[in-house]
Amino acid sequence: MNVLLAASECVPFAKTGGLADVTGALPKALKKLKHDVRVIMPRYKKIDAKKFNLKVIARNIPVSFKDKVEFATIMEGKINSKSSIPVYFIDNEKYYNRDELYRTSLGDYPDNGERFIFFSRAVLEATKAIDFKPDVIHCNDWQTGLISAYLKTLYKLDSFFLRTAVLYTIHNIAYQGVFSRDIFYLAGFDREDFIPQRLEYYGQINFMKAGLVYAEILNTVSKTYSRQIQTGEEFGRGMEGVLEHRKKDLYGIINGLDYSIWNPEQDQNIIVQYSSDDLEGKTICKKDLQKISGLPIGPDIPLIGLVARLDAQKGLDIFYAAVGRMMKMKLQLIILGTGDPVYMELFERIGIKYPRKISVNLKFDNMLAHKIYAGSDMFLIPSRFEPCGLGQLISFVYGTIPIVHRTGGLADTVDSFNVKTGMGKGFLFDEYNAKSLFESIKKAVKTYKTKKKWNRLIKNGMEADFSWGKAAKSYVKLYKKAQQKKTKAAGQ
Ligand code: ADP
Repeated sequence: MNVLLAASECVPFAKTGGLADVTGALPKALKKLKHDVRVIMPRYKKIDAKKFNLKVIARNIPVSFKDKVEFATIMEGKINSKSSIPVYFIDNEKYYNRDELYRTSLGDYPDNGERFIFFSRAVLEATKAIDFKPDVIHCNDWQTGLISAYLKTLYKLDSFFLRTAVLYTIHNIAYQGVFSRDIFYLAGFDREDFIPQRLEYYGQINFMKAGLVYAEILNTVSKTYSRQIQTGEEFGRGMEGVLEHRKKDLYGIINGLDYSIWNPEQDQNIIVQYSSDDLEGKTICKKDLQKISGLPIGPDIPLIGLVARLDAQKGLDIFYAAVGRMMKMKLQLIILGTGDPVYMELFERIGIKYPRKISVNLKFDNMLAHKIYAGSDMFLIPSRFEPCGLGQLISFVYGTIPIVHRTGGLADTVDSFNVKTGMGKGFLFDEYNAKSLFESIKKAVKTYKTKKKWNRLIKNGMEADFSWGKAAKSYVKLYKKAQQKKTKAAGQ
């Protein structure tokens, strides 16, 4: 099957969150299943053409808006040196030659609507220019939401896409790409599509809704989240009505993990490699982490890591509310994150207040993230909601025990440790508040004191299998469903 995966970020080229981990890993698993899979994404300034050996394969591809034309250059690279999976980059100086992907500390780029109209149409034009006829375009999140809308409207009669179906994956429904009516017109759609059943959303255009309305098949990144987003405003963020309408076509597939990147036996970002059979290296990684973060060195002090986008979604309010109580215990915290200036400031303050117990790192730092997963004893994910969550999966692999709120993908992947049976891989709390979070930390710290139990927990996580193989097979099933739907509709 020919699959084109369209996304706004992809490891190793550009990453702000879990979306990039998924789009960097799933193609490799699909390739193993013998599919012709290719990735297409914008070429941001930070993607170094030399480092990734990118080659220009087409220039001056016209990309139409309502009343103007802009031009795209297409570059080609490979997803990594070991694989032959092509990654196409849509290059345009005006739209993507900027320091960040979507926003600066001052807020979103004001022309994000235009930037991703351009990307969505350029994906279709590039596909034709390189003559790769996809059976399925796999779209991801709001940045690619318009692709299926274009296929069903402006490109409806284009014979090149006669057999092309769309699978639309929701990685996070909280980001929908809502823009003014002007952007609707700029995108080139007909006035008749500006209705609530199609692209209109309270007088504006909603890019994610476009994906949800027009794609043949929809999925999200865990079963629990796929149910939650249909239940009401809190999770569905205004999309619950559309999803109710499409519930027969909505699936949940839990993300896998790319073991070629996240693997303590091979990880070159950490000071010593280790495995579940020999955890000595993990102790050395902990010491290294304490040292580089300026915390007192002690193998028996429970060290809790938190790596996240600093966003209200991540449960930072209850975490912050619990810090005072945590500081009365014998433990250390290491925080790595960037994002909302409100949280940046709050965390900076607690870092200054408790310099010997908390290390605060307000940046995006891949190497430090690896060191935290390896060197911490526990990993905190108090998220208010979490579509899948990768931190808990990465933690398992590194023998670090997740403490999580029971929601979305966290509920589907972390099971409570049972002291009697020795089963389970982490600690969960049900109620979203500081007290429940703190109780769960206390429980984890108590268990930590009994080395035998703790080692059992570590092994349970490290020996679990979260590789992409199974998830990739589930994606192939959805691609086939999408194709069948498309074929059926074409025959009618
Ligand atoms: P989300 O996509 O909502 O940000 P996920 O848990 O799905 O959350 O994925 C987050 C990914 O981004 C993980 O790989 C995590 O390690 C990484 N990450 C988040 N913040 C940082 C940071 N400040 N520095 C390095 N990596 C980070």
